[in-house]
Formats: sequence, C-alpha cells, structure tokens
Amino acid sequence: MAELKLDHVYKIFDGDVTAVSDFNLNIEDEEFIVFVGPSGCGKSTTLRMIAGLEGISDGDFYIDDKRMNDVSPKDRDIAMVFQNYALYPHMNVFDNMAFGLKLRKFPKEDIKKRVEEASDILGLRDLLDRKPKALSGGQRQRVALGRAIVRNPKVFLMDEPLSNLDAKLRVQMRSEIIKLHQQLKTTTVYVTHDQTEAMTMASRIVIMKDGVIQQIGAPREVYTYPENVFVGGFIGSPSMNFLTGQLENDLFKIGERSLKIPEGKLKALRDSGYESGAEIILGIRPEDLHDEQVFLDTMPEAKADVSIDLAELTGSELVLYTKIAEQNIVAIVNPRSNIYQGDQIELGFDLNKAHFFDPATEQRIK
Ligand code: ATP
Repeated sequence: MAELKLDHVYKIFDGDVTAVSDFNLNIEDEEFIVFVGPSGCGKSTTLRMIAGLEGISDGDFYIDDKRMNDVSPKDRDIAMVFQNYALYPHMNVFDNMAFGLKLRKFPKEDIKKRVEEASDILGLRDLLDRKPKALSGGQRQRVALGRAIVRNPKVFLMDEPLSNLDAKLRVQMRSEIIKLHQQLKTTTVYVTHDQTEAMTMASRIVIMKDGVIQQIGAPREVYTYPENVFVGGFIGSPSMNFLTGQLENDLFKIGERSLKIPEGKLKALRDSGYESGAEIILGIRPEDLHDEQVFLDTMPEAKADVSIDLAELTGSELVLYTKIAEQNIVAIVNPRSNIYQGDQIELGFDLNKAHFFDPATEQRIK
C-alpha cells in the first residue's frame, strides 16, 4: 500500500516544450486517481514520470515519504498497464503473467501460486496455455492486468488500458477494473481522455489542460462545481451550455430574453464586484433546462421562448437543440414530451443549479 506525492513537478522536453507545469498532488493510500484531459495535456507524461520512464525536470516525487526522482523504474515497486497490452506473442498466458516474477528470480512455486491466484481473480484459469493471438481483446487486456497483479506492487499505473476495446467491452472491463480495485485496494493512477471513464471509475479526478491541473475533486464535485469553463465543458456529455450575456439589475440578459437570477447567485456576483452592464457567462447543464409545465409554473421568471432546431429521441432521453441570440443550447428533457423539430416551446432555466463565469478569466464566480 502506498501514498504518492507530486510536489511542484515540471516536465520540460528539449529545453522548451513544457509538457507538465507545477503539478501538485497528494494521492492517498487505496485511492483510484484518474488523470483526464484532451490529447497532449500532459497526462501520460505525468504517469511516465511516476513510473520512472521519464525524468522529472523540476520538483519532487515521493512514494511513502521517500523521494523517488532518481530511483530506477524497476526499484519503484510499481506495475504499469499499457494501452497496447505489450504481451509477448510467443509466450502463453501463464508465461506472460509469470515473466516479471521470473526476471526478479521469484521461486518457482511462488510464481505458480501467484499466477494461479491472479488468473482466478481475472477469470483466466482456463486460458493459461493459450498464446495471445488466440485471445479476444478483453482477454488480452486481462492478461496485461494479471501481469501487473502477480507482482503485488505498491502502485498500479494504467495508461488508457481500455482504448483498444470496443464500446461494449470497454464498459464491461471498466467495472471489472473497479471491482479489482475494491478487492486489492492497491493505490492506482489511471490515465484516460474519456470523461465517462473518469467519472465512473475515479475516487478523485485530476483534470488537465496544456500541462496544467485545472481541478482536482471527486466526480460529483467536479461535475457540480466546475472551477472554470474548461472543466464545465469537458466533464459531462452532452456538454454544459455556455451563454454570454449581461447582468442587468437582478436579470441575466441574452439578446431580448431575460432570466431572473436567484438571490444567492446575485449576491455572489455583487460581492465579486460585478455590476449592472457587466458581461458574464452563464453555464447550465442540459438536464437543468426544463420543458414541463410544473417547472415553468414554479420558475415563471426564468424561461425563454425558443424554436427547436432538432429533437433527438435516444430512448431514455429527448435531446433538444435550440438557440438563443445565435448561441447554441442543448437540453435533455423527458422522453415522453411531445416535442418535434420546428416546434416553439418555453424552456425553463433552473438557475439555482447554474453557474456564472467571468468572460476574461473563464473562472467560476463564487
Ligand atoms: P494523449 O492523450 O494524446 O496521449 P497526453 O495528455 O497523454 O496526450 P502527453 O503524451 O503527456 O499528453 O504529451 C504532453 C505534451 O508533451 C504534448 O505536447 C507532447 O507533444 C509533448 N511531448 C510528449 N513526449 C515528448 C517528447 N519525447 N519530446 C518532446 N515533446 C514531447
């Protein structure tokens, strides 16, 4: 079991590409941490620095209070699972799983016991004689996990381990990895660009952009209280709606429409120095827009007439696409609502659940 600490960590490639900038994070024992962000944001580089596969340009990295910057990868007691599985094609499942242990000169009996235990956990018992080419993608990924498990390391590092699997298998393996973590409780750092994976797997999510941490928090926390426009837009699908408008007394004005701002939100705006006439960005989740009369009756001053550009019924949801003052809006409403493309409807805004952001800094106004 292990605690990890990254303290003002930087990665600068070739003297000028800053891939990771001032990264600070304490990972507690047994946590499942997910690094998430768009391509090139520095998540793999950070993971590789933890693994020791990439040097740290500046700052310190500790495992259990021991500084690890100059410790070689094999002495870090870390096991890594990669996207491409990295299995040896000429070895069967047993030997693939045993390989790292043999290299470390574990006794034969111990190796057998560990491989058999791991193969039971992963449902690979009947496949130990097979070569990787005779396995499905999901089974190969399980062997890669098995190879990490047998070593019983202090830390698991996983770099997009599910991205080569098809959508259905990905969902299945996602829950298998979560169950595995519940069972083994090994501190895990997991990298993905998929925000759904981050939301469903993480005990805490680290959201990165351009090498800089944007927010660290539990899934529910980052979803409900995004620190900035980037996090609000990245976490959640369909994405949060952002509408630029003006504060006017107690109203948020977008073109001709005005929405009454609830007391608490108005106070926060005023306390932060925003006055009538100030431009602000409203961020509201698609599920906090409503078409139902009960809602419209309770929130009579926070609604707008809109024309539906597209209505998509997914089965469990009806997704409405519309615009206000040329700004796109997506709403998720009850699938039983009879709303079709071209309809004019009233859309209610639950502004108690919305946030305002500063247009210059893009930070949430608190
Ligand atoms: P992806 O999801 O595409 O793997 P990522 O978030 O994992 O992206 P990194 O691979 O960590 O991103 O890369 C971060 C930045 O560092 C990118 O701008 C990348 O081009 C740069 N980079 C990565 N490796 C090197 C290298 N060896 N030399 C120079 N620049 C590099």
